[in-house]
Amino acid sequence: MAVYAILEPIWPDGGPQLEYRTPFELLVAVVLSAQCTDEQVNRATPALFAAFPDARSLAAAPLRTVEDLVRSTGFYHNKARNIIMLSGIIMERFGGEVPGTIEELVSLPGVGRKTANLVASACFGLPGIVVDTHVLRTARRLGLAPTDDPGRSERMIAEAVPREHWTGFSYALNRHGKFTCTARKPACMACCLSSLCPSAGSFDGN
Ligand code: SF4
Repeated sequence: MAVYAILEPIWPDGGPQLEYRTPFELLVAVVLSAQCTDEQVNRATPALFAAFPDARSLAAAPLRTVEDLVRSTGFYHNKARNIIMLSGIIMERFGGEVPGTIEELVSLPGVGRKTANLVASACFGLPGIVVDTHVLRTARRLGLAPTDDPGRSERMIAEAVPREHWTGFSYALNRHGKFTCTARKPACMACCLSSLCPSAGSFDGN
């Protein structure tokens, strides 16, 4: 695929930018990253995981304490409730271990397909297309997945990209969207994909 052939050498070692030591920490960090930058989450999680390092401890944690620890990530009422609830479900249904399939992961509160794909690919080696805001926007502008619906975008990318490249492709597209094809001011003039992109130059300032 032409887009990946160009991006892959530029972003060869894609992976989560969230800091984590275990699948549980990554799962919680991704839930906290909704509507928040990875950098902000990385500033909040050391104290959270120092206090509650696993599903057992977080399932029993006082809501108010967890809210205080994740307050800086925004939407902290819902996020605190979700990570306590999902910890309880991991204890009850999965023996304290983060489950390894997409179907099981999306059954947890606050876990959608983006989170499930990210955890399954980073921790369990499954191919996963992680459609975050950068991937959604960049795939749309490139005409690869002309939609604002993350689920449709994931399916379109899955059809266009060989399965063994799903994970690497979505990380490469994420980095391209984060640093070049930015939301407000895409750098079309300097973009390595401009000759392939139907949106090239169609933004103010380009
Ligand atoms: S040419 Fe512009 S719109 Fe297309 S991918 Fe590059 S930065 Fe984004």
